[in-house]
Amino acid sequence: MSHFSIQCRHCGKHLENGFCAFCEHCKDALLVTDYRDSHFVESSAEGVWRFNWLPVHEPKIKQPGPLIYHSKGLAAEVGLDDLFIAFNGYWPEKGALLETCTFKEFEAATVLQNAKENGIEGLIVASAGNTARAFAHLSAITGFPVVIVVPRMCLMEMWYLEPQFTVPTLAVHDGDYADSIDVAKKIALTTGFPFEGGVKNVAKRDGLGIVMLEAVAKMGKLPDHYVQAVGSGTGAIGGWEMAERFVRDGRFGSHLPVMHLGQNLPFAPMLHAWDRGSRALFPGDLNPELIPRITTRVLSTRYPAYSVKGGVYDALTSTRGAMYGIENDAVYAAMDMFLKTEGIDIVPAAGVAVATLGQAIKTGSIRKNDTVLLNITGGGETRLRKDRRTYSVVPTFISKKITGKEIEDLLCHDLKKNS
Ligand SMILES: [Zn+2]
Repeated sequence: MSHFSIQCRHCGKHLENGFCAFCEHCKDALLVTDYRDSHFVESSAEGVWRFNWLPVHEPKIKQPGPLIYHSKGLAAEVGLDDLFIAFNGYWPEKGALLETCTFKEFEAATVLQNAKENGIEGLIVASAGNTARAFAHLSAITGFPVVIVVPRMCLMEMWYLEPQFTVPTLAVHDGDYADSIDVAKKIALTTGFPFEGGVKNVAKRDGLGIVMLEAVAKMGKLPDHYVQAVGSGTGAIGGWEMAERFVRDGRFGSHLPVMHLGQNLPFAPMLHAWDRGSRALFPGDLNPELIPRITTRVLSTRYPAYSVKGGVYDALTSTRGAMYGIENDAVYAAMDMFLKTEGIDIVPAAGVAVATLGQAIKTGSIRKNDTVLLNITGGGETRLRKDRRTYSVVPTFISKKITGKEIEDLLCHDLKKNS
């Protein structure tokens, strides 16, 4: 018997086998993984696979986890006594070994393993940048076929650990991240490989929740506050769901960490909806013309998991959390401050998180003695380039209006040959 089943957030129905599916009764509710063991257990397995709350059975690859450590430099700078940093990236001197330099590596590792165990033979992945790199890397080392779709506007900031030809990558020249998701779904229909499912995929959220698993394993308790930058919100929801499991376990605290989530202004649809007390997003806040004006393109989805039952709105409500808006200047200043105080470079999205922490302290939502977990979702890219070569991404350009026939001509021959 499997150590988990999948349950609907809304009606409570259990599904024994539900890859990326919505509940058959409830169209707008997320499914969550229900682990039979309500006690958190760490086995003797290596890396992240030692945790019992992951929806995989027999992972073969090595997958290091995040580095969790008690901050001195940044903590002193912002005036906190008990700040823990979850560093997701490359910083070998401290034991951080993610060469993709992003926490999306946990998502990719968990999703690919879970897909394989569900009899899936390949996946179509849409990404605004860092997810593409993580899936490309895991596809290259596991041999599991993946097709990646990205918006052209994100190519400038993209890089791969492996040369391009190992993973087919398509760039949508006339659209943004949301258009790439639409194209990915079209490609899935044509190729027969499923779309990875975005926020609906429980393995994706539980994989990102590895940050919370590693943090609580290290800290011995839940933090009072959790701070992260959000684009789709999938990582934050994953962290919240793991925190709920720890509360049910009962040995790590009885309160959910307060979620403090930051977006990069002026594209901040969840911030504006939350500030107006609305579960629905406002169309004006999703205007694609706002996207080129933010520095963190990885946070640019027009399809955030905000309104859906079990999404960001519910995570903020149940933890009495808050949303924050961060200007570009503040993102750069926060990146500089982190480098100066902690000694390692971080990506712009993590700069949004650091600035969010600053705002939450300023408004009095986070106090001096509180235990805080700051999720640095990516970093160490500059450090990595001292140790190894990375590759720019040279995609095949396509239109968001691509037809099924064109997809067939472009992809199906290669995919059949490889799989
Ligand atoms: Zn349901």
